[in-house]
Amino acid sequence: MTNEEAIGILNTKRREDFYTEKTVNEACKIGIKAIKQAMIPQKVDLTETYTVKALDVELNKVLTYPSAPCPNCKQWIIVNKSINFCQRCGQKLDWGEKNA
Ligand SMILES: [Zn+2]
Repeated sequence: MTNEEAIGILNTKRREDFYTEKTVNEACKIGIKAIKQAMIPQKVDLTETYTVKALDVELNKVLTYPSAPCPNCKQWIIVNKSINFCQRCGQKLDWGEKNA
């Protein structure tokens, strides 16, 4: 099922077009997953940090950055509290202490 199909089923005005309970349940699972990713921040585990090297093209220098695994997709994300979402999966991130 595509995200667009799920959105169509979750739209109550169009729901009558999709009459099987299984289809509606599948759309609801996709909707719940999307809400969790986009709206409920997951805590980043900062005990598992790793240093990554990346080329800064503007400075033409290789810089090192601390990174931590995304709580959802486990891909490495640079530790930067101004980053609110994982760039790979879209998971909303919780970096721990607020206003620090
Ligand atoms: Zn992710």
